[in-house]
Amino acid sequence: MHMPGRHFLQIPGPTNVPDRVLRAMDMPTIDHRGPAFAEMSRKALDGIKTIFKTKNPVVIFPASGTGAWEAALVNTLSPGDRVLMFETGHFSTLWKGLAERLGLQPEFIQGDWRSGADPQKIEERLRADTAKDIKAVCVVHNETSTGCATRIEDVRKAMDATGHPALLMVDTISSLGSIDYRHDEWGVDVTVGGSQKGLLLPPGLSFNAVSDKALEATKSAKLPRSYWAWGEMISANEKAIFPYTPATNLLYGLVEAIAMLHEEGLDNVFKRHANHGAATRAAVEAWGLEVLCQDPRHYSGSLTAVLMPEGHNADEFRKTVLENYNMSLGNGLAKLAGRVFRIGHLGDFNDLMLMGTLSGVEMGLRKAGVPHRAGGAQAAIDVLTGNGSGTAVAAE
Ligand SMILES: *Cc1c(COP(=O)(O)O)cnc(C)c1O
Repeated sequence: MHMPGRHFLQIPGPTNVPDRVLRAMDMPTIDHRGPAFAEMSRKALDGIKTIFKTKNPVVIFPASGTGAWEAALVNTLSPGDRVLMFETGHFSTLWKGLAERLGLQPEFIQGDWRSGADPQKIEERLRADTAKDIKAVCVVHNETSTGCATRIEDVRKAMDATGHPALLMVDTISSLGSIDYRHDEWGVDVTVGGSQKGLLLPPGLSFNAVSDKALEATKSAKLPRSYWAWGEMISANEKAIFPYTPATNLLYGLVEAIAMLHEEGLDNVFKRHANHGAATRAAVEAWGLEVLCQDPRHYSGSLTAVLMPEGHNADEFRKTVLENYNMSLGNGLAKLAGRVFRIGHLGDFNDLMLMGTLSGVEMGLRKAGVPHRAGGAQAAIDVLTGNGSGTAVAAE
């Protein structure tokens, strides 16, 4: 059935693709070994480095983010290697499952799904590993199932304090282009990214930013790899080509998306996201509902997960919102199913879109008979116009 007006896609990814990116991709398929392609792919390969903030190569796969998770591990590790992972939520759990299936031995530091990774616990575990059996530490920067962002800089400092040689791998699939991130400065060895969240693109591209240390690790890494192998990719990329057919039209979109992020200025992009997070939390508080993330230092600028009051199902509420107001909200994942809904406020998004989103949530709460106080949208307006008490804490 036709629903008039624009659909509000407020899940925390895939996100709304700006018209400029859609137009940029509306191109004929070209010869991916010809000169026109090389010119465009050079821009994509150089440009993406500025988003990860690295001078090293960034490998671009025609794959969803999950592929880049796998690539990060198979290029650097060997069967039976121990990896230290932190249970921040559903996505860290998926990455750990993937590591197990690859024949690695992940050790999972338990978390409560209400905060980011705790650098202290990582430090303690590394100090205890006197034999240096742990080959990598893997953390999710922005845990999309909970709306908690880990402070990667602090994880790096904690690792440095131990002098432990483990590689640091970070999943930035829902933070890249939304929350400040610095691959080189923070000494990350492999950063995993995806196209469809903060990067303004449809699903279909994923990334590995790599450090010199990670490139060195590939030389002795024994996990089988072929499609995901960095080596061939990086040497082909030096000539602006790819070892297999790249996602040509998505690369056109990537070049445009990178240009848009720089036109706005990355720092402004991060500030905008942090502000929208603050305004959203002010709304949640005014409704008398609870934000899932309990640590203000870990509040996410990309999304906010909201706990439903006891006895009310989040999926029923989301259905009411979709059917009445044509807006998709994110569902609760795994153990949070039915208990939380997630408001995505990342990507190509502005104050009025946020107000439409929060008004839709407030209308939905009323329509679905979920107990709450009115005034959440107003509280968000107060923050957005500088009259509110909300603080824009952006986790780094
Ligand atoms: C979306 C997401 C993934 C999974 O990416 P896919 O593109 O669905 O494979 C992994 N990690 C995080 C943090 C995500 O947000």
